Amino acid sequence: STESLDKIPVWTPTAGGSEPNRYQRNEKLDGKISLYSGDITKLEIDAIVNAANKTLLGGGGVDGAIHRVAGPLLKKECASLHGCETGEAKITCGYGLPAKYVIHTVGPIAQGGVGEEQKKALRSCYKNSLTTATENGARSVAFPCISTGIYGYPPEQAVHEALATVREYLDAHHDKLDRVIFCVFLPKDKELYHQNLPLYFPAE
Ligand code: ADP
Repeated sequence: STESLDKIPVWTPTAGGSEPNRYQRNEKLDGKISLYSGDITKLEIDAIVNAANKTLLGGGGVDGAIHRVAGPLLKKECASLHGCETGEAKITCGYGLPAKYVIHTVGPIAQGGVGEEQKKALRSCYKNSLTTATENGARSVAFPCISTGIYGYPPEQAVHEALATVREYLDAHHDKLDRVIFCVFLPKDKELYHQNLPLYFPAE
């Protein structure tokens, strides 16, 4: 069973909250954001983002799930790309996935802690993934919580980099994208995004 984009509710900003908003409302972004809880491989969407490793040859977590559903042709195309640097993004077809494209990005390894380098790299992942998507005509993109699994980036810090980078990209390029979906897999991430979305996509 796959999930059609037009059945996934859009984020409706609500006024108020415990912290001051970090951004003002941009009405051009209304209807473009969703928080989706579940498996990214189910989404019928232009592009899903993969939290890959530098080899692009497959790993565990979301990468393993994507390769399982996409099938062996994905690995074959990935092998032709000669890897990917941290913070960069490369695009392939979706093969057996309901998504048209997969955008493979490599998050920073943060088991040794988060410094400026990890933070910059995580922001680059989100920005370069969106740039790669729009360059290829993708108008809808779903992100997993990059680096917060095996790579050990604290999810309560990563959520801010994810939301800020997407907000800033959309402020500049809202005409190029119809929908950005934050696909959360763990209850803790659902809670974190639910708490923090109003700070980046506020009602006023
Ligand atoms: P990384 O190596 O970048 O940390 P992981 O795949 O280990 O990548 O984890 C990234 C996030 O993806 C985690 O929040 C994990 O729970 C989530 N995840 C795992 N499987 C899926 C899936 N099928 N769909 C969406 N998210 C998933």
